[in-house]
Amino acid sequence: MHPVTDTAPVYDVGIAGAGQLAQMTVLAAWPLGIRVAVLGQPGEPAAPMAAGLVEGDWKDPDALMRIGREVGVLTLENEFVDAAFLMAVEDAGTPVRPHPARMHVVQDKALQKQRLAEEGLPVPRFAVPDSAGDLEAIGRDLAWPLMLKSRHLGYDGYGNALCATLDEALAAYPGLAERGGGVLVEEFVDFARELAVMVARRHGGGDAVYPVVETRQHDHVLRELLCPAPVDPEVSHEAKRVARAAAEAAGGAGVTGVEMFHTKDDRILINELAPRPHNSGHHTIEACVTSQFENHLRGILGLPLGPTELIAPGAALVNLLGERDGPSAPDITEAAAVGGAHVHLYGKADVRVRRKMGHVTALGSSPEDALETARLAASMVRL
Ligand code: ADP
Repeated sequence: MHPVTDTAPVYDVGIAGAGQLAQMTVLAAWPLGIRVAVLGQPGEPAAPMAAGLVEGDWKDPDALMRIGREVGVLTLENEFVDAAFLMAVEDAGTPVRPHPARMHVVQDKALQKQRLAEEGLPVPRFAVPDSAGDLEAIGRDLAWPLMLKSRHLGYDGYGNALCATLDEALAAYPGLAERGGGVLVEEFVDFARELAVMVARRHGGGDAVYPVVETRQHDHVLRELLCPAPVDPEVSHEAKRVARAAAEAAGGAGVTGVEMFHTKDDRILINELAPRPHNSGHHTIEACVTSQFENHLRGILGLPLGPTELIAPGAALVNLLGERDGPSAPDITEAAAVGGAHVHLYGKADVRVRRKMGHVTALGSSPEDALETARLAASMVRL
């Protein structure tokens, strides 16, 4: 028997964060009658439109406990939230999905790669040095150039260094190790293209796999994507198989973004997993029967997952990245005249160089056709 003071959670779902991923999740939640609270500050993208705002920081264990008390299920919009803090929320009685024990592995690039390799999944050759003293031997084994990555807290290339020589690696090592609790070293993959697949997993069983996209990064940041990826059916099939197995190995409920390399000799190698909705899935809002955000909610709540098929022959997305530093002054007047282009602005108060300010999605008779529309509109958006 529960004491009469026991109250049901006020919100169905809480998100540890209030950025653009939380914003798009909130927008997907309203039509389903799902009430979402976010953890963040009033000026952040999701704050004005969430059903509830718990003011605080996802880095603060007390703030996580506060949102945990208000919600039926807690989920994430970034993989950096401390797994021990999330475990405390879970122990206090609020389920956290994906589960904190899984987060612990995924948020460490070295443990993640080891886990995927143990499952027999294809990954670039890698090594985990104990200290900079190991780099010479690793270089002999994997061959220069090598990609050095902070084990934790890397995103959009912050935390990565491509090193052509041992001297470069020795210079990069201390900063990367300090940023992220050690370093992962990978062979440099001379890929033909990068691919990504979103996989939605339902708490209680079942999954749904989205069509394969080609992602085009520049300077480590996603610039454009094409869907479906222009690859042979066998490659697409293999990318989906690998992504599905990788998401299963990561084991969480909700959406997992699986980033992969397609090599020039037609192999698929996993680059990394993101245990949350992902930039490589933003096109699914308009392009697929069920968006990644809706399926993330369905998955963590144990609801049946929605179909993932494309509703047009092709789709494309262009990210809107800041090109200056200063207050944002958005203007979509010209872009709004481009028929069929879906402009999304995240409502960030300040522009910064490379900052993700929004994106444009378009559908078309082919991915290339859609890309032309999306590029045209994107070129006209003022940030
Ligand atoms: P982040 O976590 O910062 O997004 P990633 O590990 O995904 O970093 O790397 C960002 C980009 O760097 C990738 O999309 C890819 O273009 C490039 N990259 C990463 N690892 C390798 C590698 N081993 N070989 C070649 N390019 C790589």
